[in-house]
Amino acid sequence: MGYYQPLARLVAQFGKLPGVGAKTAQRYAYKLINMSEEEVEEFAKAILETKKNVHYCNVCGNYTEEDVCDICKTRDKSVICVVKESKDIVAFEKIKDYNGVYHVLQGTLNPMQGIGVDDIRIKELMARLVGVKEVIMATNPDIDGEATATYIARLIKPMGIKVTRLASGISMGSDIEYADEVTLSRALADRKEY
Ligand SMILES: [Zn+2]
Repeated sequence: MGYYQPLARLVAQFGKLPGVGAKTAQRYAYKLINMSEEEVEEFAKAILETKKNVHYCNVCGNYTEEDVCDICKTRDKSVICVVKESKDIVAFEKIKDYNGVYHVLQGTLNPMQGIGVDDIRIKELMARLVGVKEVIMATNPDIDGEATATYIARLIKPMGIKVTRLASGISMGSDIEYADEVTLSRALADRKEY
Protein backbone atom coordinates (compact mmCIF):
# COMPACT_ATOMS: atom_id res chain seq x y z
CA MET A 1 0.00 0.00 0.00
CA GLY A 2 1.28 3.41 -0.92
CA TYR A 3 3.93 1.83 -3.14
CA TYR A 4 4.23 2.55 -6.76
CA GLN A 5 2.50 -0.58 -8.11
CA PRO A 6 5.53 -2.44 -9.57
CA LEU A 7 7.36 -2.04 -6.27
CA ALA A 8 4.40 -3.47 -4.37
CA ARG A 9 4.61 -6.50 -6.59
CA LEU A 10 8.29 -6.94 -5.79
CA VAL A 11 7.65 -6.52 -2.05
CA ALA A 12 5.01 -9.23 -2.27
CA GLN A 13 7.47 -11.58 -4.00
CA PHE A 14 10.15 -11.09 -1.33
CA GLY A 15 7.48 -11.59 1.32
CA LYS A 16 7.12 -15.19 0.13
CA LEU A 17 10.60 -16.05 1.41
CA PRO A 18 10.95 -17.68 4.85
CA GLY A 19 11.75 -15.25 7.64
CA VAL A 20 11.05 -12.19 5.49
CA GLY A 21 8.42 -9.92 7.03
CA ALA A 22 6.82 -6.87 5.47
CA LYS A 23 9.58 -4.47 6.52
CA THR A 24 12.41 -6.66 5.31
CA ALA A 25 10.59 -7.33 2.04
CA GLN A 26 10.30 -3.60 1.54
CA ARG A 27 14.02 -3.11 2.32
CA TYR A 28 14.95 -5.79 -0.23
CA ALA A 29 12.74 -4.22 -2.88
CA TYR A 30 14.28 -0.78 -2.39
CA LYS A 31 17.77 -2.24 -2.37
CA LEU A 32 17.05 -3.99 -5.65
CA ILE A 33 15.76 -0.93 -7.49
CA ASN A 34 18.85 0.94 -6.32
CA MET A 35 21.15 -1.62 -7.91
CA SER A 36 22.50 -1.13 -11.41
CA GLU A 37 20.64 -2.81 -14.22
CA GLU A 38 23.55 -5.25 -14.69
CA GLU A 39 23.48 -6.25 -11.04
CA VAL A 40 19.74 -6.83 -11.14
CA GLU A 41 20.11 -8.88 -14.29
CA GLU A 42 22.79 -10.99 -12.60
CA PHE A 43 20.48 -11.46 -9.62
CA ALA A 44 17.49 -12.47 -11.74
CA LYS A 45 19.66 -14.74 -13.87
CA ALA A 46 20.97 -16.55 -10.78
CA ILE A 47 17.42 -17.26 -9.65
CA LEU A 48 16.14 -18.38 -13.04
CA GLU A 49 19.15 -20.50 -13.95
CA THR A 50 19.29 -22.19 -10.56
CA LYS A 51 15.61 -23.03 -10.85
CA LYS A 52 16.07 -24.30 -14.39
CA ASN A 53 19.22 -26.36 -13.86
CA VAL A 54 18.89 -27.73 -10.38
CA HIS A 55 16.84 -30.86 -9.82
CA TYR A 56 16.87 -33.95 -7.63
CA CYS A 57 19.71 -36.47 -7.83
CA ASN A 58 18.32 -39.71 -9.30
CA VAL A 59 19.89 -41.69 -6.48
CA CYS A 60 19.81 -39.76 -3.22
CA GLY A 61 17.23 -37.02 -3.83
CA ASN A 62 19.65 -34.19 -3.04
CA TYR A 63 19.78 -31.12 -5.29
CA THR A 64 22.22 -31.34 -8.20
CA GLU A 65 22.72 -29.99 -11.71
CA GLU A 66 23.50 -33.47 -13.03
CA ASP A 67 21.59 -36.76 -13.12
CA VAL A 68 23.61 -38.12 -10.21
CA CYS A 69 25.21 -35.80 -7.64
CA ASP A 70 28.93 -35.63 -6.81
CA ILE A 71 28.43 -37.19 -3.39
CA CYS A 72 26.73 -40.26 -4.89
CA LYS A 73 29.44 -40.51 -7.55
CA THR A 74 32.49 -40.32 -5.33
CA ARG A 75 31.72 -41.55 -1.82
CA ASP A 76 31.43 -44.78 0.17
CA LYS A 77 28.08 -46.28 -0.84
CA SER A 78 28.06 -48.84 1.96
CA VAL A 79 26.94 -46.23 4.49
CA ILE A 80 23.77 -44.20 3.93
CA CYS A 81 22.81 -41.29 6.15
CA VAL A 82 19.05 -40.70 5.94
CA VAL A 83 17.91 -37.08 6.32
CA LYS A 84 14.64 -35.23 5.99
CA GLU A 85 15.74 -32.46 3.62
CA SER A 86 18.62 -31.41 1.39
CA LYS A 87 19.43 -28.63 3.83
CA ASP A 88 20.46 -31.24 6.40
CA ILE A 89 23.20 -32.51 4.10
CA VAL A 90 24.81 -29.08 4.21
CA ALA A 91 25.08 -29.41 8.00
CA PHE A 92 26.67 -32.89 7.74
CA GLU A 93 29.09 -31.85 5.04
CA LYS A 94 30.48 -29.17 7.35
CA ILE A 95 31.76 -31.78 9.79
CA LYS A 96 33.94 -33.42 7.13
CA ASP A 97 34.45 -36.75 8.95
CA TYR A 98 31.54 -38.41 7.17
CA ASN A 99 32.46 -40.21 3.96
CA GLY A 100 29.26 -42.10 3.24
CA VAL A 101 26.36 -41.11 1.00
CA TYR A 102 22.96 -39.65 1.87
CA HIS A 103 19.32 -40.33 1.26
CA VAL A 104 16.90 -37.40 1.32
CA LEU A 105 13.39 -38.42 2.35
CA GLN A 106 11.92 -35.08 1.29
CA GLY A 107 9.71 -35.06 4.34
CA THR A 108 8.81 -37.06 7.42
CA LEU A 109 5.75 -39.12 8.26
CA ASN A 110 2.94 -37.03 9.70
CA PRO A 111 -0.46 -38.77 9.81
CA MET A 112 -2.18 -35.58 11.02
CA GLN A 113 -1.10 -33.77 7.86
CA GLY A 114 -1.81 -36.81 5.74
CA ILE A 115 1.87 -37.49 4.99
CA GLY A 116 2.14 -41.25 4.78
CA VAL A 117 4.69 -43.87 3.78
CA ASP A 118 4.16 -43.32 0.05
CA ASP A 119 4.55 -39.55 0.28
CA ILE A 120 8.21 -39.59 1.27
CA ARG A 121 11.13 -41.37 -0.39
CA ILE A 122 11.09 -44.63 1.59
CA LYS A 123 10.60 -46.90 -1.44
CA GLU A 124 13.61 -45.27 -3.09
CA LEU A 125 15.68 -45.93 0.03
CA MET A 126 14.67 -49.59 0.15
CA ALA A 127 15.65 -49.93 -3.51
CA ARG A 128 19.25 -48.89 -2.87
CA LEU A 129 20.17 -51.14 0.05
CA VAL A 130 22.10 -53.78 -1.91
CA GLY A 131 25.66 -53.90 -0.54
CA VAL A 132 24.86 -51.41 2.21
CA LYS A 133 26.44 -52.09 5.61
CA GLU A 134 24.90 -49.33 7.68
CA VAL A 135 21.96 -46.95 7.51
CA ILE A 136 22.23 -43.96 9.83
CA MET A 137 18.89 -42.39 10.69
CA ALA A 138 19.47 -38.65 10.94
CA THR A 139 15.97 -37.22 10.86
CA ASN A 140 15.26 -34.35 13.25
CA PRO A 141 14.82 -35.25 16.93
CA ASP A 142 11.14 -34.28 16.96
CA ILE A 143 8.01 -36.46 17.02
CA ASP A 144 7.73 -36.86 13.24
CA GLY A 145 11.46 -37.38 12.83
CA GLU A 146 11.62 -40.05 15.55
CA ALA A 147 8.52 -41.84 14.25
CA THR A 148 9.92 -41.87 10.72
CA ALA A 149 13.31 -43.14 11.87
CA THR A 150 11.74 -45.92 13.93
CA TYR A 151 9.46 -46.94 11.07
CA ILE A 152 12.34 -47.19 8.61
CA ALA A 153 14.60 -48.95 11.12
CA ARG A 154 11.93 -51.64 11.54
CA LEU A 155 11.83 -52.17 7.78
CA ILE A 156 15.58 -52.40 7.34
CA LYS A 157 16.80 -54.25 10.43
CA PRO A 158 15.30 -57.63 9.42
CA MET A 159 17.39 -57.44 6.24
CA GLY A 160 20.50 -57.87 8.37
CA ILE A 161 21.70 -54.30 7.80
CA LYS A 162 22.97 -52.31 10.76
CA VAL A 163 20.65 -49.37 11.50
CA THR A 164 21.80 -46.58 13.79
CA ARG A 165 20.39 -43.34 15.15
CA LEU A 166 22.33 -40.18 15.90
CA ALA A 167 23.16 -39.96 19.61
CA SER A 168 21.18 -37.48 21.64
CA GLY A 169 22.92 -34.18 21.99
CA ILE A 170 20.90 -32.45 19.35
CA SER A 171 18.13 -31.28 21.62
CA MET A 172 14.59 -32.55 21.18
CA GLY A 173 12.63 -30.35 18.83
CA SER A 174 15.63 -28.68 17.24
CA ASP A 175 16.61 -29.12 13.61
CA ILE A 176 19.69 -30.92 12.28
CA GLU A 177 20.07 -28.06 9.84
CA TYR A 178 20.87 -25.68 12.72
CA ALA A 179 23.04 -28.04 14.78
CA ASP A 180 26.60 -26.82 15.22
CA GLU A 181 29.52 -28.79 13.86
CA VAL A 182 30.80 -30.09 17.20
CA THR A 183 27.38 -31.28 18.37
CA LEU A 184 26.62 -32.99 15.07
CA SER A 185 30.05 -34.56 14.85
CA ARG A 186 29.66 -35.99 18.37
CA ALA A 187 26.10 -37.19 17.69
CA LEU A 188 27.39 -39.00 14.61
CA ALA A 189 30.41 -40.53 16.35
CA ASP A 190 28.30 -41.75 19.30
CA ARG A 191 25.43 -43.08 17.20
CA LYS A 192 23.45 -45.93 18.72
CA GLU A 193 22.27 -49.11 17.10
CA TYR A 194 18.56 -49.86 16.91
ZN1 LIG B 1 23.02 -38.09 -5.00
